[in-house]
Amino acid sequence: MSREAVLEAVCGGEAECREELANAPKEVESFLGPFSTFVPIVGELKPPLIERVENMASAEALAGDRELARLAVSRRLAELYRDKFGEWEGDFCPICGRTPVLFLVRRQQGPLFETASKTAKCVCGFSWRYRWWRCPNCGAEGRENFEVFLREGLEGVFFYRCSKCGYVHVEAYGEPDEVVQYGLRILARYVAGD
Ligand SMILES: [Zn+2]
Ligand SMILES: [Zn+2]
Repeated sequence: MSREAVLEAVCGGEAECREELANAPKEVESFLGPFSTFVPIVGELKPPLIERVENMASAEALAGDRELARLAVSRRLAELYRDKFGEWEGDFCPICGRTPVLFLVRRQQGPLFETASKTAKCVCGFSWRYRWWRCPNCGAEGRENFEVFLREGLEGVFFYRCSKCGYVHVEAYGEPDEVVQYGLRILARYVAGD
């Protein structure tokens, strides 16, 4: 799906909203700049790692805000420790502890038939293989537990609402860029009725 289609779905014709969304990845990058040399001290490699960071206070001082500090440190942890969790298949992010909202689906053409893999894509930058038809919030499994929503103009995007807990996640086919990823997470919240 195109970036324009996602901007249209999130913002309609509102110029300010469009600009904000289109610039969101750049904004985050510029904010993260001072953290490029920050080294989180991790007590033990027990997920979620963000809870094991012993020098959070200095990160908070650097960011001037607790939530921003957690995001920045999570990004650093994802860079530094992603290889330690190559086999991860949990319902939450082993780096920052978030429940995933966005999943990317990639199709591969094999010798006989096409296969597809599904990857949870966390805002901290960590991603991991994830099962089909499973709710990451409550663990409900099976397609009968999901209501599926489509949005006009967003091809290859499917929103799923779990009928057990109401949690909404979104699957997107292909390689959406960062702006599209932001937009899809926001749209999932709309679908969830927030
Ligand atoms: Zn994460
Ligand atoms: Zn659920």
